[in-house]
Amino acid sequence: MQLQLPTDVLRRMRCHLIKAGSREIGGILMGEEIGDQVFQIVDFSVDASSGTRAQFVRDADQHDEALSAFFERTGGEFGRFNYLGEWHSHPSFSVLPSLQDMHAMQDLVDGSGGVDFAVLFISRLKWHWRFECSAHLFVRGHSPSAASVTRVKSEI
Ligand SMILES: [Zn+2]
Repeated sequence: MQLQLPTDVLRRMRCHLIKAGSREIGGILMGEEIGDQVFQIVDFSVDASSGTRAQFVRDADQHDEALSAFFERTGGEFGRFNYLGEWHSHPSFSVLPSLQDMHAMQDLVDGSGGVDFAVLFISRLKWHWRFECSAHLFVRGHSPSAASVTRVKSEI
């Protein structure tokens, strides 16, 4: 799977990472399916208050609202624009998912929430400026796999 990261999304995420400093922040990713196994991050929600230095657990209600607003904006074209997964920052660690991250994501796709697949996107600013990220794909009944992240120019 390939994940496209537009420059405007990257810029916004970078601003949030700077503001959060050494606290973990995160939320959900909203995306567009643009080809076979190719998805683009269109938007993301941010919970800037729940995280600590080493952990982030998101507030479900706040992100449900963000997703509803996204559906409204994209005209309810669920086949094309939909929930893509979860993201959070690792300000003090590498961007690779922790064991706890892996388990949480596997539980999400194997659970009863109706999510068959989800991306886990982890980002950080190394030395306070260099944007680093990783993406992993979790599919119900399958082992996780790494996804490639490609930076693309925003269309707007
Ligand atoms: Zn993590």
